[in-house]
Amino acid sequence: MDFEDHVEELASDLGVDKEEVTQDLQNLVEYSVPIDEAKQSLRRKYGDGSSGGGTPSAKDIGDVTPDSSNVTVTARVLTAGERSIRYQGSDHVIVEGRLADETGVIDYTAWEDFGLSPGDTITAGNAGVREWDGEPELNLGESTSLAFEEEALEVPYEVGGDATLAELQTGDRAVTIEVEVLECERRTIDGRDGETDILSGVFGDESGRLPFTNWDPAPEIEEGASVRIENAYVREFRGVPEVNVSEFSTVTALDHDVDVGSDAPTMGVGEAVATGGVYDVELVGNLIAVRDGSGLIQRCPECRRVVQKGQCRTHGDVDGIDDLRVKAILDDGTGTVTAVLDDELTKQVYGGDLEDALEEARDAMDQEAVADTIREKIVGREYRVRGHLSVDEYGANLDASSFDESDDDPTERAAAFLEAVDGDAGAGAGVETEVDA
Ligand SMILES: [Zn+2]
Repeated sequence: MDFEDHVEELASDLGVDKEEVTQDLQNLVEYSVPIDEAKQSLRRKYGDGSSGGGTPSAKDIGDVTPDSSNVTVTARVLTAGERSIRYQGSDHVIVEGRLADETGVIDYTAWEDFGLSPGDTITAGNAGVREWDGEPELNLGESTSLAFEEEALEVPYEVGGDATLAELQTGDRAVTIEVEVLECERRTIDGRDGETDILSGVFGDESGRLPFTNWDPAPEIEEGASVRIENAYVREFRGVPEVNVSEFSTVTALDHDVDVGSDAPTMGVGEAVATGGVYDVELVGNLIAVRDGSGLIQRCPECRRVVQKGQCRTHGDVDGIDDLRVKAILDDGTGTVTAVLDDELTKQVYGGDLEDALEEARDAMDQEAVADTIREKIVGREYRVRGHLSVDEYGANLDASSFDESDDDPTERAAAFLEAVDGDAGAGAGVETEVDA
């Protein structure tokens, strides 16, 4: 259903003018209220008693699917974090987190202040179910009855949101992390209430690194500091998870240093691509091809994008600036990524600088000669590439920060890989036999 369809449906269900519904719905959606909750809210506003009729059935969390209608669940509150959203023109505080019972966990959003805290056991009657990214989530709203149970429900999940950076995923809420601030800069942005200062940079811990934004600059967050942050949430920004520290987060300076690993986690290509993006990762694979648009290229002086035949897609006819880069396809048998090498890394693999490249192209009377030389040097060899992996509809790109020929013994690595697979899956009897053989 697109936006127009939602408007049509609401306007006809509620008998309200379409223009009015469009206006209301747009307001809600613009401030990132999910479409289903926005529609429910409008149904309440215009007094439609027909939604969610009947008494919802009590359900185990493990049995709730995106297709479930309203449900009643008894659950332990694992996490509860406040966040501010703008809703019908004013700021509202919502609470987000995770609930669990013996059968599973589920994310929730509370649109009313029920006073939920981690560790509480609750029965939520008539909670709405919506789908987010293929998974069900609960909406606790005006029509939900909420009761606190005296006896704590035992659940096989940890109460609280402690996590390492490597564990964080887009959509996580109310997380607690202990990190070192590796990079930090203050910027002025045009916020929804005019100009405002924010901090952005990079956090690190032993497990990895992630970018962050601190929307309400905390004095404890400065380069080199080790801090504990409670109630942060994770959003996707430029294809990777980003830690968001808000006015509701608690930031405390730690009296000890958080150790930051110097190595990026090494992952299989398929596994890394499946995460949807990793800020800092190391991939090892065979370099199977150098793509078009590699070697000697020209960039638009305005926007730095690569120009083709003197044409920038945005700025039209331009005088391109010469530059060097490589886009190379790396394959480890589980998947492929395009490794993108900047001018510095390209100089290393080419074994020459921009002047050398221009001379080679002039001599050959073909700009492609430079790409061909690079192809000869790297295709068919195995490389260890570290960088920033982003995945979008056009594929997976690894913005390389280092690019080295792998000196691993391939058989040793294969054995280590199988061992890891064996350990993870716990069902690798067949694999083990192969290794032994
Ligand atoms: Zn341009």
